[in-house]
Amino acid sequence: MKVHGYAAQEKGAHLTPVTFDRVDPRPGEIAIDITHCGVCHSDIHQVNDDWGNSLYPCLPGHEITGTVTAVGEGVEKFAVGDRVGVGCMVNSCQECDPCHKGDEQYCIGPKSATLTYNGPKIPDGTNTYGGYSTGIVVREEFVLRIPDALSNEVAAPILCAGITTYQPMKHFGLEKGMSIGIAGIGGLGHMAIQLAKALGAHPVALTNSPEKMDKVRELGADYVIDMTDEKVVEDAAQSLDMIISTIPYPHDLNPYVSLLKPDTKLIVVGNLMGFDGLQTGPMVMNRITVAGSLIGGIADTQEVLDLCAKHGIAPEIEVIAMKDINDAFDRMKGEDVRFRHVIDMASLKKDEEARSSAKEIDAPERGEVTGRKELADA
Ligand SMILES: [Zn+2]
Ligand SMILES: [Zn+2]
Repeated sequence: MKVHGYAAQEKGAHLTPVTFDRVDPRPGEIAIDITHCGVCHSDIHQVNDDWGNSLYPCLPGHEITGTVTAVGEGVEKFAVGDRVGVGCMVNSCQECDPCHKGDEQYCIGPKSATLTYNGPKIPDGTNTYGGYSTGIVVREEFVLRIPDALSNEVAAPILCAGITTYQPMKHFGLEKGMSIGIAGIGGLGHMAIQLAKALGAHPVALTNSPEKMDKVRELGADYVIDMTDEKVVEDAAQSLDMIISTIPYPHDLNPYVSLLKPDTKLIVVGNLMGFDGLQTGPMVMNRITVAGSLIGGIADTQEVLDLCAKHGIAPEIEVIAMKDINDAFDRMKGEDVRFRHVIDMASLKKDEEARSSAKEIDAPERGEVTGRKELADA
């Protein structure tokens, strides 16, 4: 099927209209008409090649929701007309230990997990294109069901911002009554506050933006620590049972470590670029673990969607037209954004100017449908 989208043709370039083919569903795959796609900070990082592994054209978007329009042979879980979502991954080997454990994001198969866009690079330099487009084709194991209580625009950010903060809470043992610090109150952090609250914990917002304090209390934070106030930080020393840092760039981690009780963990989910000057002394003296965590597996992603539906948890969103994506990126870089932009893909479907000026680009790679050999061979 012919689809339209927006992509960066080179490092740091503005996103411009493109068109390309998505090949019809193979056995085990599903075609989705995309209605919405969330705008994640990692979309900017990858357009700018901040992590040094970007491929171009770079067509971002991994918070995808829409409607099933076709299913391949052997698809069992979904039917035409279902409301569905796709998050950060579209494929994995399905056969390795992490895949069997439901941690497909840590797949150690030959091609590792295939990211929704900008992957796989290994072994042959092929690319994938994400959700800043009107349609996508994905194997059914990587398709999520959108609960009735969630609209497509509200569900979209849960597929990255929601799962990325929920999974470490679950994995690292957040319990009822614990105090959990959430560092960075943006797209991920504002979801983390609501999720921690729903799990019975006490969310504590750790922010450099005191002007956000009223808003974070409204979201459910029991307490707010203004990290720009040294005295406040000092008074809160050793008061937290866990911290999740969603801050998407290098920053001074030491003040955050000082907030943790002994034998607890600070989990980094937002920054892949390292921390200068991280002092190990306070970590050693208090048996503090600084850990990392990447998104979450498919079963956990469905779990967080269902949890949000059950508890009425919703991201704060601003719906934008596809053509306004470059402005949205600028606003996110300048932090003049409240939580999450979500692209309304209907805006591109009826944008005649964008469609007629679209540059034709190569079809994206989809990878083999491994772990379903009887279908792949059919
Ligand atoms: Zn993301
Ligand atoms: Zn695997």
